[in-house]
Amino acid sequence: MAWDFSTEPEFQKKLDWVDDFCREEVEPLEYVFPYAVRSKDPKIRGLVKSLQDEVKAQGLWALFLDEELGGPGYGQLKLGLLNEILGRYPSAPQIFGTAAPDTGNMEMLAAYGTEEQKERWLKPLLNQEIFSAYSMTEPQGGSDPNLFRTHAVRDGDEWVINGEKWFTSAGRVADILFVMCTNGMFVVPRETPGVEIMDFPAMHNHVRYNDVRVPHDHLLGPEDGAKVLAQRRLGGGRIHHAMRTVAQVKRAFDMMCERALSRESHGKVIGEHQMVQQAVADSYAEINMLRLLVLWTAWTIDNSSTQEARTQIAACKYTCAKVLREVTYRALHIMGSLGTTNLTPLQAMWASAPTMAIADGVDEVHKVTVARNVLKDYRPHPGLWPTEYLPAKRQEARKKYATLLAGDPDLAAWADHAERSMARGH
Ligand SMILES: Cc1cc2nc3c(=O)[nH]c(=O)nc-3n(C[C@H](O)[C@H](O)[C@H](O)COP(=O)(O)OP(=O)(O)OC[C@H]3O[C@@H](n4cnc5c(N)ncnc54)[C@H](O)[C@@H]3O)c2cc1C
Repeated sequence: MAWDFSTEPEFQKKLDWVDDFCREEVEPLEYVFPYAVRSKDPKIRGLVKSLQDEVKAQGLWALFLDEELGGPGYGQLKLGLLNEILGRYPSAPQIFGTAAPDTGNMEMLAAYGTEEQKERWLKPLLNQEIFSAYSMTEPQGGSDPNLFRTHAVRDGDEWVINGEKWFTSAGRVADILFVMCTNGMFVVPRETPGVEIMDFPAMHNHVRYNDVRVPHDHLLGPEDGAKVLAQRRLGGGRIHHAMRTVAQVKRAFDMMCERALSRESHGKVIGEHQMVQQAVADSYAEINMLRLLVLWTAWTIDNSSTQEARTQIAACKYTCAKVLREVTYRALHIMGSLGTTNLTPLQAMWASAPTMAIADGVDEVHKVTVARNVLKDYRPHPGLWPTEYLPAKRQEARKKYATLLAGDPDLAAWADHAERSMARGH
């Protein structure tokens, strides 16, 4: 019997270590030195590095990468269990070398880079000596690649890139930008002349590429291969977001339950009011549905490929946005006025729910993917009635028993009576 929802004791020990480490080391660092993981200050970098060294010593660094790509090869299921802890702490993914957008970019480099490209970019990215950004979305075309215009033209030993990108997260502070052109994926050092980063938005940058020249070996993967590389990148990224969302909703749920037992109103603790109980019960079920969907998807990737799991990944993408929206809203509501302030994490978590429904492709697009792929396994029913039309099924079943009924009047009378009763029910 292969259905097993337990965690190997050895790996559980690792998870317990991660849980303690995040609570005792990562969380305090976040409160005293917010955004330390992105700081270039040598003293602050030292604090971050000492935590990262502890993670490396545990063999938990860059867990998302398969062994042949340079990681420990734990696979997506174990990464899912790990992310259920890391997702509670904003800087934990960076401390464990599993933070977007670098993870997806590293996956592309690991899978499609030449040895020289890996040496030049993958190694320093893995060691967080440099940071990267992913420049795909365009202002006029969103993330529909058929509407993209950014294009590279070969000129001698160089590529000349022209175009405009929108919402390149952390582009301003990245050392290299992965630029999706209509004819390939290019690695562009941010300092290259012609890379123009607009003042707004501040974090997710609007970038113009004006006659940007890069050497010919800055093309990653084959010419015209950008869509395949992007799919590889985004497939992994979406499931990682979903894994971290499980952590977020559990955190909101913990706050909801603690409050339900701590606050009194109208003669009882609020956890005894039925509507609060409904919020707890619905949230419990929704969180576990999401968690099982995410872990099943991770297991599918481990046992086949990201491509094979694409329907499940798409389902994870919009389900995590929905569960985040529902559960954080209920938790915030049960927290009352305090929930509306920034004195607990709930207000920020609730505000992030609409973002989750847009980043990495809007929910609608993923729902279309799921519906299309699911419907491929179905066929229209041949006649007027659906396959499950009961009178037709009964008639068919009766044929199976025809000989028996012909030879036994009692059974025939019983079956006739049942048929008449069923017919009266309509
Ligand atoms: C926090 C965050 C970080 C991001 N980081 C990056 C990044 O690092 N690099 C990058 O390149 N991009 C990034 N993006 C951009 C992201 O990929 C796009 O926002 C997303 O793909 C949607 O594109 P859009 O914003 O142009 O929305 P649009 O495509 O304009 O969609 C707007 C709305 O139109 C409707 N709609 C659109 N398409 C369909 C459809 N096919 N069917 C039905 N309805 C539809 C939906 O209601 C949708 O919400 C990021 C986005 C966010 C929110």
